[in-house]
Amino acid sequence: MTDLLGRLYRLQTRIRFVQDREKKRDTVPHELVEVDREYQEKVEAVNALKTRLTEAEHERRKAEGELADLKEKLKKYQGQLRAVQSSREYSAALNEIDGVEKLIRATEDRFLELEEEIEKAREDLSAREASLPAETEQHEERLKDWRAEQRTINDELAGAREEIAKLEAEIPPRDRAEFRRLLEKKHGLAVALVSAGSCSACHVKVRPAAMQMLKASHEIIYCDTCKRILYYEPASS
Ligand SMILES: [Zn+2]
Repeated sequence: MTDLLGRLYRLQTRIRFVQDREKKRDTVPHELVEVDREYQEKVEAVNALKTRLTEAEHERRKAEGELADLKEKLKKYQGQLRAVQSSREYSAALNEIDGVEKLIRATEDRFLELEEEIEKAREDLSAREASLPAETEQHEERLKDWRAEQRTINDELAGAREEIAKLEAEIPPRDRAEFRRLLEKKHGLAVALVSAGSCSACHVKVRPAAMQMLKASHEIIYCDTCKRILYYEPASS
């Protein structure tokens, strides 16, 4: 049982360590926040341009297709115009032609606008893409120390995760599940060390009887007040 509690306590320590280090690794240091933001904006601008370019090219192809259809329609109405029998049919055909011609002009305008936009976007993109490698290099140079720290953290994390897996394998599934449930419920602190006869999480004195049981370590004892698992290290009190 002492072993089980010791493992649970160690497991909790390692889990907290992993969470803490992950947070540290993934948080841009204060002095680099602005530098990093500027760089990320450049990267995002390139991505946004690429996305918009793809969209605009799609829209242009669509306009091209619409234009071809409209011209086909115009031809058809012009054919009808030649074959009309009455003035009523004649003015109806003229109306159709007029409507289609308007649509053609509007579509042509849209097509030209898209052409222009695509050309500008391509120029903008190629200029941005040309300067990005140097900017990336400069950015990485500024972030060098932090990157080194991130690598160190990753090494530490690999070691800690290995130990967590080993500890979890040694803990019976039922106890492991209970521990995980409590860990979740108690925001990362499921096992509380007993220090100077008190629960170190809620600082309430542990009952003498519970203390006796803890020392004998025959079973899992929960703190009466905060309901965490109590862990007693003979050397620590
Ligand atoms: Zn407590």
